[in-house]
Amino acid sequence: MRRLLSIAIIVLILILGFLTGTYMYKIKDLDDASARNGAIAKIEDECTVIAELDERGTLELSMTNTAEEKVSPNSILTIKKLYTKCNHIIEKSENIPVEVTNLNQQDFQKKYEDWEIQKFTAHEIVLYKEENDYCGEHYLLKDINRICGSI
Ligand SMILES: [Zn+2]
Repeated sequence: MRRLLSIAIIVLILILGFLTGTYMYKIKDLDDASARNGAIAKIEDECTVIAELDERGTLELSMTNTAEEKVSPNSILTIKKLYTKCNHIIEKSENIPVEVTNLNQQDFQKKYEDWEIQKFTAHEIVLYKEENDYCGEHYLLKDINRICGSI
């Protein structure tokens, strides 16, 4: 009978120990979880930064890509000029000059310093410039205006 009692006590202690163990483990687990949550929150913050960086990185990448695009000998060069005195845009397309073929956008821009590159692809390049003048389409009108003005 005594032996039975001591066995019961041992079993009880074991059960208690097991329960305590589980309980402690759960607390630890909870701590871990909250620590992890904290970590996640922190990671999210870092992710935002990474995402921002990535966006900038992508931007840089696409800029690099355009810079890597080269003038092909088959490109069409379109020249657009806005004449600000009459607000006419004169546009003309021609084959690309031989001396600028195989240039990338940066080098091409150096050749056409005064021009804004509106489009730069292997097939088409569009240059744009504003000119503080009348376009060639109405020299006559300009002269007439001047004559009429002086009379
Ligand atoms: Zn005009």
